[in-house]
Amino acid sequence: MMRKRALQLFVNCAVVSVILPSMPARSAIPFSSGRAVHSAQFAQNPQTQAALAWFKSHLAWINDEQARLTEIPAPPFAEGQRAQAVKVLLAAFGLEVHLDKAGNVIGELRGTNEREVVLIAAHLDTVFPAGTDVRVRREKDRMYAPGISDNGTGLVSLVAIARALHEARIKPQRTILFVADVGEEGEGNLRGMRALVETYRDRLKAVVVLDGSGTDHVTTKALASRRMEAVITGPGGHSWSDFGIPNPINALVRGSVRFLNTRVPATPRTTFNLGQVEGGTSVNSIPHEARLKVDVRSESEDELLRLENALRECMAAGVRDEMESARDRSKGKLEWKVEILGSRPGGELAGDSPLLAALRAADDYVSNASRIERASTDANIPLSLGIDAIAIGAGGNGGGAHSLQEWYEPAGRELGLQRALLTTLGVSGIANEKGK
Ligand SMILES: [Zn+2]
Repeated sequence: MMRKRALQLFVNCAVVSVILPSMPARSAIPFSSGRAVHSAQFAQNPQTQAALAWFKSHLAWINDEQARLTEIPAPPFAEGQRAQAVKVLLAAFGLEVHLDKAGNVIGELRGTNEREVVLIAAHLDTVFPAGTDVRVRREKDRMYAPGISDNGTGLVSLVAIARALHEARIKPQRTILFVADVGEEGEGNLRGMRALVETYRDRLKAVVVLDGSGTDHVTTKALASRRMEAVITGPGGHSWSDFGIPNPINALVRGSVRFLNTRVPATPRTTFNLGQVEGGTSVNSIPHEARLKVDVRSESEDELLRLENALRECMAAGVRDEMESARDRSKGKLEWKVEILGSRPGGELAGDSPLLAALRAADDYVSNASRIERASTDANIPLSLGIDAIAIGAGGNGGGAHSLQEWYEPAGRELGLQRALLTTLGVSGIANEKGK
């Protein structure tokens, strides 16, 4: 079964004719499983070997570029300056680079088959607001800075892989797009990836997302989520003289209690969070407005929809309860609405997809073991549309993501870089052996 999967990979990525003539003897390859033999054969290509070796001899450059990119602020909705820096790097490594309307940097490594595209992407944005001190502090083998790992690691790895392919003069079969995209975090709502998928949808064969550090996981399941805001408005008034008119905060509290009593299943795992409450002007005023932000997540799109509807029903009921108990309705009634602030669709990569086979083959080659994970990443967008996609860490170790104490340790990072490069080539294929 494992062997079958590896064979499947090479049939699908259409590199069979190139690989077969250069197949080394089985005994020359130090791996035991059938799958590993195939992945090793793929990587035995001398140009692939050159690209894989490039990382190890340029670790200092990679680390320094990571620090430099991290020190260019990229708050939500303001990634432009960092985008320019990535654009300069990708252009220096032989790619045709442009920025799209969304602000994504797109570097094209043209394949022999330009009708089919493989996308490797790392998000530019951080969660940190403008003005955050993003200077990198180095202590022994660690680098500290907000965003150093998420997504300093992904970004510099994108650039390093582009450079390794360039220096090894590898021409792919399918065109590879190296993309630094905007709007992955929070209310960015994956807008960069949405724009990319819209543009390339018909040609897009696989998406490899580099997000953060590590090599211990592969995200093949997209966690679906919704962010919603309930808003209730009313006439407002004085706490003493207008007592008895409907109060939006009362209605919001009544509706919230109802929503809290909504049951969610353990399987499929489903969660909700009342994350932010706003409203009112002073303690002795009946407010004219109340707002509540709610985040819901689920392994099931159906459960999300059920919770979204539940929030609407509960807010409607809270308003009704408050109106019914109001003694004075002469000054006006309450209005309510629930708005969707963000929506990340779910999806799942098929277990027998060529992309997962390429990742597994790469794991075997670098002797890495990784587990399947469900998470909310840029891969949500292609996965929700049935396009093969994964998100992986780009190597090394990191921690404290989304905090000011975020850190990164580059030791062993070449393994993550090699894994990402092999996975990408596994789905793009290699066109030539001499880089003509
Ligand atoms: Zn990230």
